[in-house]
Amino acid sequence: MALRAPSAQINTPIERLKGVSTTILKPLKNLGIGTYADLLLHIPTRYDDFSHVTRIADAPVGETVTVRGAITSIENIRSWKRRMYITHATISDGSGELEAVWFNQPFLTQTLTQGKTVSLSGKISISDRSGLTMQNPAHEVIGKTNTTTHTGRLVPVYRETAGITSRWLRYLIKNAFATITTTPETLPEDIIKRQHFPSRFAALTSVHFPATEKEAALARRRLAFEEVFFMQLLMLRARETIKQADAPKIPINVEKIKTFVGALPFSLTDAQRKAAWEIVQDMERGHPMNRLLEGDVGSGKTVVAAIAMYNAAEHGWQSVIMAPTEVLASQHFSSFSKLLEPFNINVGLLTGSGALMYDAELKTAHAIKKADILASVRSGNLKIIIGTHALIANAFSFHSLGLIVLDEQHRFGVKQRAQLAQHRSTGKSTQEPLIPHFLSMTATPIPRTLTLTAYGDLDISILNEIPQNRKVIVTKLISPAARTNAYTFMDKQMDEGRQIFVICPRIEHEPGSDALSLPPRQFTFAEIARKEVKAVKKEYEKLSQEIFPERRIGMLHGKMKAKEKEDVMKKFKAHELDILVSTSVIEVGVDVPNASVMAIEGAERFGLAQLHQFRGRVGRSEHQSYCLLFQDDASQSVSRRLKALLECNDGFLLAEKDLAIRGPGDFLGTRQWGAPDLAMASLTDVALIKAAREEALRILSEDPALRKHPTLLTYLAAFTEKVHLE
Ligand code: ADP
Ligand code: MG
Repeated sequence: MALRAPSAQINTPIERLKGVSTTILKPLKNLGIGTYADLLLHIPTRYDDFSHVTRIADAPVGETVTVRGAITSIENIRSWKRRMYITHATISDGSGELEAVWFNQPFLTQTLTQGKTVSLSGKISISDRSGLTMQNPAHEVIGKTNTTTHTGRLVPVYRETAGITSRWLRYLIKNAFATITTTPETLPEDIIKRQHFPSRFAALTSVHFPATEKEAALARRRLAFEEVFFMQLLMLRARETIKQADAPKIPINVEKIKTFVGALPFSLTDAQRKAAWEIVQDMERGHPMNRLLEGDVGSGKTVVAAIAMYNAAEHGWQSVIMAPTEVLASQHFSSFSKLLEPFNINVGLLTGSGALMYDAELKTAHAIKKADILASVRSGNLKIIIGTHALIANAFSFHSLGLIVLDEQHRFGVKQRAQLAQHRSTGKSTQEPLIPHFLSMTATPIPRTLTLTAYGDLDISILNEIPQNRKVIVTKLISPAARTNAYTFMDKQMDEGRQIFVICPRIEHEPGSDALSLPPRQFTFAEIARKEVKAVKKEYEKLSQEIFPERRIGMLHGKMKAKEKEDVMKKFKAHELDILVSTSVIEVGVDVPNASVMAIEGAERFGLAQLHQFRGRVGRSEHQSYCLLFQDDASQSVSRRLKALLECNDGFLLAEKDLAIRGPGDFLGTRQWGAPDLAMASLTDVALIKAAREEALRILSEDPALRKHPTLLTYLAAFTEKVHLE
């Protein structure tokens, strides 16, 4: 295949481009533009349709058109009353005359001078005094070439920054195309043919200066395809590499698993059975499992992980399960202690604040020195270890690590994960150290397109069934006016012996900020934590002093010490508290069956998928449960979004909606990747993603190492660099 080597031209620094002065270098850098290639890949966000070219006499009032004619007069008038310059020009094309008016652009008279032929695009209006008029039209002088860039066509509009406008960018891009006559092709020819794509160069030209919307769309598609295709190659190859490696071969002990399942206080759902089976099968193969277990809140992921961990323990392999919070780790510790006690398997807990050991023989948990727990991990005596991130920080050495489980995995960075996967067992295997099996669990249902792209290196098991004893949670939208009624209702629930969660928004409301357009600005972790704490304290005070002074209320937020958090959580679980005011901390996995109300303040500030997760914290027992969505902004559009939550109980459907409304950020968590805007934008385009995946699979099935595609390898390496999954 004849792929050209990357040309130097496209990598030429932008400083060399005609029109780039030192003053605009900085704004260009702000836009991420340092080379010709960056400039050409600065894809328009939309187009202004100025393609309707007409004679002045035929110009329809109220419509946006382009006219072309000679400037018969032009002057700046200073309006003292309106404190601005107004530029008046008269344009004539032989069929009629038109008045053009610009505000505060007196410098225009330097380029638009009497006698010059100009092209103007804008909306036509009419008045008695001046006749046909265009206000602030886009304009350009028609030169010898007779072509237009800013008028008379589909005109690209770009992401701008202070100091550089779309008009500037168009000018620069035009200059770039004047010196670059081709760009290297990045996709193999047969893919281009099969997908009916234009060449890369043609696509770049069309995306900036298309003749029609259709041409622009095809060009975008071709450029987006490329990024998604590379993403797929990257993921599929990562997956293949893992599959080649050696992992512990852990046989399936069907009898023991049956006994374990039989000892559970409930029977497994079919989805749980299937997922557990997929997992233990993976672990029997001798190559590292790399699987994501996805299931709505309450779908029972823990016990599925427990089955795999139990089976590993029975064969002498250690397992570790890691949770994002101490609260959750402690909860796992007590569940696992209970689950494994009949089988005489000890369980260890290690968090930032200390260590516990559950002794299955004595049937009690006791505090233990960290050094001691580490010693039993090293010796291989302890088979089941539970912990938080703190585990990663510790220089751990395992005797025979067979399985790593990450709970709520979307909260973990890929980097942390890579770090974890480096743990090798030292004692059990005699030859090369083996790579442990890997299971991630998440309650955030990940939209299908994302599982194919950002999570494309994982195998996936889905728990799409909720255990039968659950009631449907009643979800209600509480407008500011209905707040008092809602409090009365909450009071009644507490009279009946129930408990209540109150969640405070992640960030405080910024006046004038539109919840729907969030989040353009990324808050730092520290900022979020600070704001969360403030919101929680305020809510706590309000509830305990004004609304429910006679109830027992506790609070939970990120700034509290681990021990304090633990205590509050324990108290709430033991019903020593009626209300728990909390940040989104409790979002992940806390189980308090007696809680029947989930009240969410500032509900419009959370994503749908996240709200759905909060909702899943209640309804875990026979008590009818409620989710109250308090709005502090009752604007219509917001309500419409929240209404999706009232109508829909399916986390996967909500996830798809969330993706469409808010983009992929919520689902990626720390799994962000670098620049490819186009790829990000096309993450909702299932057809495109499928096509890219098929092509990637096809090429890898014929040529797994891409030996016959050296150029592709080069581009893939460059792409990997750019994407830097972290
Ligand atoms: P999640 O998937 O949100 O992590 P958990 O594993 O915490 O869910 O399970 C939620 C609750 O449901 C736990 O109390 C667990 O014991 C219970 N549970 C799990 N599987 C079943 C089942 N098949 N039938 C009834 N209850 C179940
Ligand atoms: Mg869980």
